[in-house]
Amino acid sequence: MYYKRNNKRLSVSGRGDYMSTSDFIIQYYTNLDACRKFFYDIKWPTGYYCEKCGCTHYYFMKTKNCYRCANCKHDERLLSNMIFQDKKLPLNVLLYGLFLIFTANNGISSVELSKELKVNYKTACLLQTKARILMKNSNSKRFLDSDFYESDVAYTGAPSHNGKRGLGTDKQPFLIVLSTEQENQYPRFVKMQEVTTDSSNIIKGYFEKYVKMSKERKLNTDCKTTYNILKNRIEVNNEVIDYDNDNHRLYILNKIISNLNSQFIDRFHGVTKRMLPLYYSEFEWRFNHRNCKSIMNKIKNYIMQSSIATRKMIRDSMDQYATVRGLENA
Ligand SMILES: [Zn+2]
Repeated sequence: MYYKRNNKRLSVSGRGDYMSTSDFIIQYYTNLDACRKFFYDIKWPTGYYCEKCGCTHYYFMKTKNCYRCANCKHDERLLSNMIFQDKKLPLNVLLYGLFLIFTANNGISSVELSKELKVNYKTACLLQTKARILMKNSNSKRFLDSDFYESDVAYTGAPSHNGKRGLGTDKQPFLIVLSTEQENQYPRFVKMQEVTTDSSNIIKGYFEKYVKMSKERKLNTDCKTTYNILKNRIEVNNEVIDYDNDNHRLYILNKIISNLNSQFIDRFHGVTKRMLPLYYSEFEWRFNHRNCKSIMNKIKNYIMQSSIATRKMIRDSMDQYATVRGLENA
């Protein structure tokens, strides 16, 4: 799906499907049946069927908290084979956690989350990580489609305005692209991803995958030559920028980068390098969903499109990522 130009549906007017915390408490937190229905609809969107015998009749076994096939007596738990299958949390606490994570404007720390849910820190961290995986999956289906883009390879934690950004540092580089309706305007959408290095081929690969290009469209970057590789696909402006001038053409892009980096420092203390890719995903998702409505439907769809992710599977994939990037001790 493309982030479309002139997408009128994004205008914020009226309350619409906006869900406040009190709405959530009433509709879900205090209503276990509604929570169960939420996950039931994910598991059996077209109605119950037994995976062993195909029977469509069941009994709900309250004491075992599972669904028993009326024919072959096969028991099935609501969360089995889902991203949250190893969750021991009551359904309303799990859903409340997701609601808090997905609706927090600038994110919520695992410490805050564990206090609010009254669960231990490790449980809160795992829930956060799984929510970030859902955000990452959602991001991967979205592309930019606009007349104007801005892009740069920036570095997490490094100064972003003195013209020496990241050069010679061991900070994590990431590629960021904004789509705007006019040049130097606040962006509609952002896409970003960690990269191993600032290279032409990485930039080309990312743009081909996620950014709609044509000769009539314009891309503003700083004076680096790594973007020249796109010049036969899109108009690239990579003239030297005077960063001391407040109206320079990447002013908003730099603002967003420094906002991202300060969020990492202020809110997510001690983010390790191996975790950064998921934090970038979270930032991208939050930015692009800052006016999001129908959040419960979104969460429902995200879970529906996800697959099992146990603590071990997550750890293994992060180890793999760290090994590829030489971050074993990060
Ligand atoms: Zn059955």
